[in-house]
Amino acid sequence: MRNSEYGSEKEEKYRPVDSLISPRFSGIKTFMRLPHVKTVEGIDFAIVGVPSDAGASFRTGQREGAAAIRKVSALLRPHNPVLGVSPFDYVKGVDYGDLPVVPGYIEDTYKKIEEGLYPIIDAGVIPILLGGDHGITLPELRAVARKHGPIALIHFDSHSDTVDQYFGQPYNHGTPFRRAIEENLLLADNSIQIGLRGSIYSADHLNIPKRLGFEIVTLEEIQEIGVRKLIEKVRNRIENSKVFLTFDIDVVDPAYAPGTGTPEVGGFTSRETLNIIRGLKDLNFIGFDLVEVLPAYDPSEITALLAANIVYEFISIISYKKHTRETLQ
Ligand code: MN
Ligand code: MN
Repeated sequence: MRNSEYGSEKEEKYRPVDSLISPRFSGIKTFMRLPHVKTVEGIDFAIVGVPSDAGASFRTGQREGAAAIRKVSALLRPHNPVLGVSPFDYVKGVDYGDLPVVPGYIEDTYKKIEEGLYPIIDAGVIPILLGGDHGITLPELRAVARKHGPIALIHFDSHSDTVDQYFGQPYNHGTPFRRAIEENLLLADNSIQIGLRGSIYSADHLNIPKRLGFEIVTLEEIQEIGVRKLIEKVRNRIENSKVFLTFDIDVVDPAYAPGTGTPEVGGFTSRETLNIIRGLKDLNFIGFDLVEVLPAYDPSEITALLAANIVYEFISIISYKKHTRETLQ
């Protein structure tokens, strides 16, 4: 590999394959061509697939999401010109593979996801999870809160995912954030839901997340205040808390992200999405996920491509902090 001036040989191992030496269409498809190693030693972040759609309520097939994101992520290049950082010069990571799931049995799946994350979180490695439907975020938050205590949440979604139950069942992709509050996994006062829109079950529906303590910002409000004010709002809400970012791809307009389970028209563009994420670069992130990519409805792979780019921004903002610290020294 090139760039041998950076770090020890060990550190050199945990960066993407150089696509100027080995063509990016070749090889086994890991995220961004990172090495597939199930280790937590010597790394800052781990990409982890969660191939579960046991919680989906409309279309299913999100179990294929992580594989689709990995495949198209081979296109990503190692320098982020907007943030001015080459992430892999500052942070090391692996593609950890997929966590085990039990198809059709959501509570068993939740247990496996939670326990599968313990070694990563205990080692102080930042997990970046690729879903899966949004139900998987509940066991992720259980694993994170076990180490850190209740944490702040930034939740991008066109839905609040705070209903009490569907069909009498407490665990699915419509309930995770209500359960997370009930289980004391979140600092509600420092948590925010962004991009809510679309038809809802009743006039009171948007009051549910508010009653649970979340701040919500609807897409219509964002249209009024603009992206810059939105970023300010989020930063004021989170303050210095440890924060988990959960990104439901359906917050993006289906024109840009058609491959998803419960699409809602009138959402963010790809460009707005990237700008908002970059605007959060100073926050104290301890974990990320990106959920609800559904490849069967994504024939041109644009949803997976956007998802891969959003994950690239997550890696970039983790590295941005280290980069800024080293530059100031
Ligand atoms: Mn969701
Ligand atoms: Mn949603």
